[in-house]
Amino acid sequence: MTSARDPHPTTVGRFAPSPTGPLHWGSLVAAVGSYCLARSGGGRWLVRIDDLDTPRVVAGAADEILRTLERLGMEWDGEIVWQSRRTGTYAAAVEELRAQGMVFACGCSRKEILASAPQASEEGPVYPGTCRAGLPPGHVERALRLRVTSSPVVFVDGVFGRCVQNLAAEVGDFVMRRADGIFSYQLACVVDDAAAGINQVVRGADLLGSTPRQIYLYSCLGLTVPAYLHLPLALAVNGEKLSKRHGDVADLALHSGGALIRDTLLFLGQEPPPELTGASAAEVLAWGCANFQISAIPALARVWGVPTESAS
Ligand code: GLU
Repeated sequence: MTSARDPHPTTVGRFAPSPTGPLHWGSLVAAVGSYCLARSGGGRWLVRIDDLDTPRVVAGAADEILRTLERLGMEWDGEIVWQSRRTGTYAAAVEELRAQGMVFACGCSRKEILASAPQASEEGPVYPGTCRAGLPPGHVERALRLRVTSSPVVFVDGVFGRCVQNLAAEVGDFVMRRADGIFSYQLACVVDDAAAGINQVVRGADLLGSTPRQIYLYSCLGLTVPAYLHLPLALAVNGEKLSKRHGDVADLALHSGGALIRDTLLFLGQEPPPELTGASAAEVLAWGCANFQISAIPALARVWGVPTESAS
């Protein structure tokens, strides 16, 4: 654990895959990036399985992801955290927020929100505040939402630089517990990162838009905000975010561990030397940990396999 008085806190990073399928090219970027960045300063690297969204969990996927990490030489510290076993902790956090008057019951259906949302942002429809002052007649509690304010949330991302979001205008009061009773990703992520002492969150740029919500939650819960670094998205040739839908899953198993780590480092703008061609995953990873340059990471989403242009 770090303390405010420690001038050189140990980095504690993490990789938090959702077990909705095997590790794919896109999530490999987050795994390798978070690993090298945590280890480069001699820090710790933890693994958490984000298996809260049970309807999306695929049986056996978590074990497969962990086996792939092992094959690639990515050793984690401590025990794996399984979100599905921590619902009591999330409930306690929601109670704490409710006691402060920050959480309210919302009776809106998705359809109602879509119909009445004044606008949609990149993050989806903006919650119009329908149930903020109490459930309207004829509505029963469905979800629990957190009140947001219109003060902008500002943070400096390690790759994307200064980011600003006005939660009230761009997101609205957001969900803590869904209508199906499942605690939200935003809540669980903050509660778990804080409980594990994570001070460096490295993940894909698809989550950049979630970060202001999470920073706001840290402040509501009186917790210390970690540093954030969002990695460029790996795209399929059709321009979509790479995922298991792209049939890339089988490919991963076909490549040697060393080649996978090398390709991922290249994707992240790093320049592993040609001598590492044919080296083991552990050897390439060790090079990555010793030589990782944050300034070389490109922010632009790119098609996987297309070499990064050197920064001028
Ligand atoms: N579980 C999320 C995912 O696989 C990542 C969560 C995070 O890194 O904050 O997309």
